[in-house]
Amino acid sequence: MTGKNEIKKALSDVVAGEILYDEPMSQHTSLAVGGNADALVLIKSENQLVEIIKKLKEKEINFLPVGNLTNIIVRDGGYRGAILLMTGMKKISYEYTPEVGYLISAQAGAALVKVVNMSVSNELTGLEFCAGIPGTVGGALWMNAGAYGKEMKDVIKAIYLLDPEEGIKTMKREEISFSYRRTLLPPDTIILGAQFKLKKGEREKIKKKINEILQWRQKKHPLEFPNAGSVFKNLPMQIAGKLIEDMGMKGMSVGGAQISTKHANFIVNRGSASASDVLELIALIQSKAEKEKGVKLETEVVIVGEN
Ligand SMILES: Cc1cc2nc3c(=O)[nH]c(=O)nc-3n(C[C@H](O)[C@H](O)[C@H](O)COP(=O)(O)OP(=O)(O)OC[C@H]3O[C@@H](n4cnc5c(N)ncnc54)[C@H](O)[C@@H]3O)c2cc1C
Repeated sequence: MTGKNEIKKALSDVVAGEILYDEPMSQHTSLAVGGNADALVLIKSENQLVEIIKKLKEKEINFLPVGNLTNIIVRDGGYRGAILLMTGMKKISYEYTPEVGYLISAQAGAALVKVVNMSVSNELTGLEFCAGIPGTVGGALWMNAGAYGKEMKDVIKAIYLLDPEEGIKTMKREEISFSYRRTLLPPDTIILGAQFKLKKGEREKIKKKINEILQWRQKKHPLEFPNAGSVFKNLPMQIAGKLIEDMGMKGMSVGGAQISTKHANFIVNRGSASASDVLELIALIQSKAEKEKGVKLETEVVIVGEN
């Protein structure tokens, strides 16, 4: 069962203002495209999240946990069900014990950049590669986000989650499988938080590395336009951006969506793009790559919602 009336009934005791009905997702996605979600629920706490999931499941209402929506395209027809934003789950803390070492714990809704900042202020090294990734801890873990040869899997000690069958539990890193840009957790799992295991470093060296990464990103990425990061996964032996550039597609547009002239694996919204424009451009790239280069380009961005 979906639709905003059913969601209203199911979540009737959730305080008004914490649920936005018929909410245009173009106002929330970093690419600034996407139709309306039946409901966008601003989750206040872990307890509230557990309560809400129980109710949505009872009524068989679809739900989708999201972070900062920096790697998602919501189709123009919108999302039937409830999109869950971890607004109130942003705590980050640091601890050291001789037995375990240096740990940072963060809730799913915490911005990754804040976790990086906490590592810098405590002179901890390991998270520098996350500098400039605009997501949350939950999104980064779900995506196994990475850069400069490192991924989330290299720094986490454990993930704290709401398992669809078993409820709240902690999974140690060794118990989890990871692939390129995906952590292999059961569908409908909600990540609640994580522990990052770091090493003691030198503040100046850590800061220098982060600054280099931020400058590099500023130079290479089209940060001046709304975008959703890399659109395609790299192939085992080929960088997706280079392949698209070699096919002469840099700068190509469909409606308001354009293959960035700065970095061919980014699609930017030049102001008036719809999700359909972006998806059409994606399909054009995929079809040309298959015809001319004999390769299948898979999307890294997550595509949800209705046409
Ligand atoms: C300018 C720019 C640069 C980027 N650079 C990089 C980069 O270098 N490396 C990289 O890997 N990515 C990069 N990205 C993509 C993106 O920022 C990362 O993938 C980020 O980790 C996504 O986090 P998010 O919170 O925005 O997730 P969202 O986009 O909100 O969600 C992504 C996926 O995670 C799921 N999800 C989110 N939160 C939860 C949760 N709590 N529990 C379960 N599932 C959840 C969503 O359902 C969705 O499937 C970039 C994006 C931009 C715009």
